[in-house]
Amino acid sequence: MNPSRLWLRLRRSNSAPIRMPHLVDESRFVDHCSRCRACVDVCETGVIVVGDGGFPELNFQRAECTFCGACARACSEPLFLAPAEAPWPYRIAIGEGCLPHLGVECRSCADACDVMAIRFRPSAGAAYPTLTDDCTGCGACLPRCPGQALSLTPLTQTPKGDIA
Ligand code: SF4
Ligand code: SF4
Ligand code: SF4
Repeated sequence: MNPSRLWLRLRRSNSAPIRMPHLVDESRFVDHCSRCRACVDVCETGVIVVGDGGFPELNFQRAECTFCGACARACSEPLFLAPAEAPWPYRIAIGEGCLPHLGVECRSCADACDVMAIRFRPSAGAAYPTLTDDCTGCGACLPRCPGQALSLTPLTQTPKGDIA
C-alpha cells in the first residue's frame, strides 16, 4: 500500500478533509502531494493547515478561502486544475442548532457573507436564514455561528431550501 494512503486510513476524524479549491480528485492528490507545505506557507488567509499524514487541508475555524489561487500557483506538482467557474462542489448547510429556531434573533452568518448568499425569511418570531445559489462555500460564515449550526457540505447532499 502507498504509505500516503496508510496515513489517511489512520485518520483520526471520520469525516473526509476539505482541501484546497480547484484540486484534482482525492485519490490523485494523496498519490502525488509531496507534503512540502508550500501551499500552507503561501495561503493569504491561513485557512490551509497541515492535517493528518502531513497533508494540507482547510480549517474554516481559522479563516475562509478567498479563492485567490495562490496555493495552486505555489504547487510544483500537477495537482490543480485550471480555474473553472466553480472552484469546488461545496456550499453551506444550515443545521438544527440555528438559534432562530429556538426563538433567538441571530444574523451573524449573513453579516459574514460578502456575496449575501444568506437571506432571512420574515416570520412571526425570529426570522429564519435561507441559503441562495450564490453561496460559494468560502466558509466565512462558519466560525461566526454561535449555534455551531453551519457546516460545509458537498452540493449533491445539500437540500436547496435548507431549513424550513
Ligand atoms: S485559494 Fe487562496 S485562500 Fe484559498 S486555500 Fe488557496 S491560498 Fe488559501
Ligand atoms: S449564525 Fe448560525 S445561529 Fe445565527 S442565524 Fe446563522 S445559522 Fe442560525
Ligand atoms: S460559505 Fe461563504 S458564500 Fe456561502 S453563505 Fe457562507 S459566507 Fe456566504
